[in-house]
Amino acid sequence: MNLVRTLEPCKRFFCYHRIVIVSEEDSKLIEIAKSLVKEERIPGGVVGEVGAVMRTSEGEVFSGVCMHLVCGIGFCAEHTAIATAVTRKSNIQIDTIVAVNKNGIIPPCGRCRELMNVLSENGSNTWIILDDNEKVQLADLLPRAWLPRRSSTERPEA
Ligand SMILES: [Zn+2]
Repeated sequence: MNLVRTLEPCKRFFCYHRIVIVSEEDSKLIEIAKSLVKEERIPGGVVGEVGAVMRTSEGEVFSGVCMHLVCGIGFCAEHTAIATAVTRKSNIQIDTIVAVNKNGIIPPCGRCRELMNVLSENGSNTWIILDDNEKVQLADLLPRAWLPRRSSTERPEA
């Protein structure tokens, strides 16, 4: 069961949004993500600096690590986890996702937020675990998100 604390100031983003306490299932995702962090140097950069784990709305769990490579050709751990899920099933709904580095849980970068938004039908409802105790929905981290299903002449709903 998720406990909801509404409209509390977020320490990390200096704004007000709905913060939910992580569940036991979420804590398992955090532990899996922590186990993935094994930074290794390779000729073209560093891999495994960040581990990410996601759970779909159907309860499937997928994981991945980041690849920080030269010339900007790497990508985030969230990308790897999401790509692994899409490899298995093209139409996924990401329920919850978490990314961890050696210092703890980190929020997704802007590119990963956009990836989650455009990939799932209800991407803005995806839960993002922000630390060991709290999670928020993607809509709070990516307000007024672009929707590929909307034509360029349509305005977002207010
Ligand atoms: Zn990212």
